[in-house]
Amino acid sequence: MIKIFNSLGKSVQEFIPMDKRHIKIYVCGPTVYDKIHIGNARPLVVFDVFVRLLKKSFEKVTYVRNITDVDDKINKKSIETGIPINELTKQTIKNFHSDCFYLKNIHPDFEPKATDHINEMIEMIKVLIKKNFAYEVSGNVMFRVNKFHDYGLLSNRTLDEMIAGARVDVADYKENSADFTLWKPSSIDLPGWESPWGRGRPGWHIECSAMSKKYLGDEFDIHGGGIDLVFPHHENEIAQSCCANETLKMARYWVHNGYVNIDEKKMSKSGNNFITISDLLQKFNGEALRFFLLQAHYRAPLNYKKAYLNDANSSLSRLYRAVDGLGVEGEPDEEILNSLKNDLNTPKAIARAHYLAESANKGSKEAGQLLKNSSKILGILENDSEKWFKEGANQFFSSTNDNDISPKDIEELIKNRLEAKKSKNYRLADQIRNNLFKKGIILEDHVDGTNWRRS
Ligand SMILES: [Zn+2]
Repeated sequence: MIKIFNSLGKSVQEFIPMDKRHIKIYVCGPTVYDKIHIGNARPLVVFDVFVRLLKKSFEKVTYVRNITDVDDKINKKSIETGIPINELTKQTIKNFHSDCFYLKNIHPDFEPKATDHINEMIEMIKVLIKKNFAYEVSGNVMFRVNKFHDYGLLSNRTLDEMIAGARVDVADYKENSADFTLWKPSSIDLPGWESPWGRGRPGWHIECSAMSKKYLGDEFDIHGGGIDLVFPHHENEIAQSCCANETLKMARYWVHNGYVNIDEKKMSKSGNNFITISDLLQKFNGEALRFFLLQAHYRAPLNYKKAYLNDANSSLSRLYRAVDGLGVEGEPDEEILNSLKNDLNTPKAIARAHYLAESANKGSKEAGQLLKNSSKILGILENDSEKWFKEGANQFFSSTNDNDISPKDIEELIKNRLEAKKSKNYRLADQIRNNLFKKGIILEDHVDGTNWRRS
């Protein structure tokens, strides 16, 4: 039995699937205008472990995580930098995938982009207007919040509090200042699509309602995201989906992870304590960052200090020593599994991992084996120990200045690596990748080939 804290109801509840043969989970993904920071990395890792647990416990799991590639922040960034929107989003998605790769994330089953689903959004908005939940004023379509009686249920707020909390613009086309945007007009210099309300673009919230409906149906099991998304984003998603689809719930379980603080302070771009994942990955192995992110309970705030990453790295080295020479053979450790099943208690699972490592380093083969068998569910210790010690974070500092390798040579090496992989010479393929990494070149494998970038 899996238990999880449901923000809808504010309690730890037994997870009862709608259909135990097929679990459906949606997690809000990034808005692609900038490199992701350590606060964005936390949900990526938390929900990755949760999905691994679900995949272990159920026959079939569909995991959807969207990409928001139409947004005012993107438009603003494009104007500031002079980089065309298409290029900006493409590059940011590429960086995002590379960060996910280094954080040892499994890829979602679907990763829909908002701009590929404008029609679905328009259709849903049409339904909302027809059912009188939305109204159009001169090219703006607004959701009529006081028509939805459950509005505020997730965030536990009254309508008055939400009006104050949202700091909404008082626009004269709004019937009620808490009404939120489903569609808005676009000037010719901004991205826009033809719609029954003129050329325009969607509001942020509607994409998750439209895309979760397309990939998971009108109602599904779990919706996840960071705690900062509860209001207004998730509250608005629920309002749109329940009213358009005529369901009582959009998702049965709403799961939210806590904030990341940096040196005890809330992370902010303006506060100069804003750390991107790609910055960290130049100095630390992604697995160490992942391990660090799992050390606190997912709902608790997590404090980041650089020293903690060094600690995570040496802890991982100890665990890798304990599983040296072992491959996965059999089921994960029951105590680790049960800790995860109990509201995703990763600190307890990690404490148990340390205990098993200690026993293994004292000579218990069985303990080492149980630890190695638990690697898949935690997403750590999946490499060979030999590889970990060769690539360990300390070595990431060395020879990164030596990046005078030409693009032509890099492409040539990528080609050689592909051939090595084809002929199943994985050792050579890894060697090529590692050698390039030491020269500051990061390879990113995608379905349609391998890209590279300088670190
Ligand atoms: Zn969302």
